[in-house]
Amino acid sequence: MFVRLGRCLWSRSPFLPCCRSSMSAATGFVSGPVVQNVEAEKLFGHLKLASHDSLRGARRAACPSCGHTSHTICMHCYVPVGGVVFPQIERLPIPIDVIRCVIEGNRSTSPHAKLVCPSSVTLYDWPAIPDYKRGTKVILLFPSKDAVSLENFISAERRTLQPVAGEIPFDRALFIDGTWKQAKRVARDERLASLPRVILENVDTTFWRPQGEFAANNLATIEAIYHFCVQLHDMTSGTAHNGEFDNLLWHYVHTYSHVVSTQAIRRAAAASAAEDHQPSTAAHKVEEEESRAAAQ
Ligand SMILES: [Zn+2]
Repeated sequence: MFVRLGRCLWSRSPFLPCCRSSMSAATGFVSGPVVQNVEAEKLFGHLKLASHDSLRGARRAACPSCGHTSHTICMHCYVPVGGVVFPQIERLPIPIDVIRCVIEGNRSTSPHAKLVCPSSVTLYDWPAIPDYKRGTKVILLFPSKDAVSLENFISAERRTLQPVAGEIPFDRALFIDGTWKQAKRVARDERLASLPRVILENVDTTFWRPQGEFAANNLATIEAIYHFCVQLHDMTSGTAHNGEFDNLLWHYVHTYSHVVSTQAIRRAAAASAAEDHQPSTAAHKVEEEESRAAAQ
């Protein structure tokens, strides 16, 4: 079952492989029906997403593996909790590794990819990093000064290697999931020094609270993984992406819709409270004027 929800914003930008979600602290992730708002429709209406029914009304519950109480995902075991059923993607264009800065905890979005496509995604908790065998070609998705665009990297590799048509000229892709500050620290690790650095172009974040020195154009990790898969597919498969990887954003879109709706409700409540306060303020001013006049 698919839900069609808007249109995504696209523009040139580097990406920030991190996510500092405010969904728990700011909204409490209130259970109950999620309001599908106009903003979400505009941004995500073109996506082919599975139904969000199992996420609606989800409550905190004990992880079936470790017993920790969580909301929708156990970040220790990377399993769904509370009856949430993640849609499945059989395989991504290439295996993906993610180094998670665990301090991110429930704010991290890379586990969404692990739960939607477990066969292609491996998560590592920093300071652990993948131990790649000699000869494994790995690219690091990270917006450093020496990074090249995915398109330019593939073109250069093809000129050098002359691979078979449609073949992806590297074996794995590595992402870093953390705050911008954490990601920069991980990227400086000497164990990652030899990896070519690649950035995604023509994508804008839809994250509700962008951060870091690249401001609003930075992507949450799950956004970066999604756009990387789409661009890689389009550049190497010979066919245009047709929603095959959209469910990578399944949980993200639900959270976005919830956060934006909650923010709208809060703004409306604040405006209403201000209106209620208005007459008393005016009355108070009248009283002040009357007191001042009486004192003169
Ligand atoms: Zn667990």
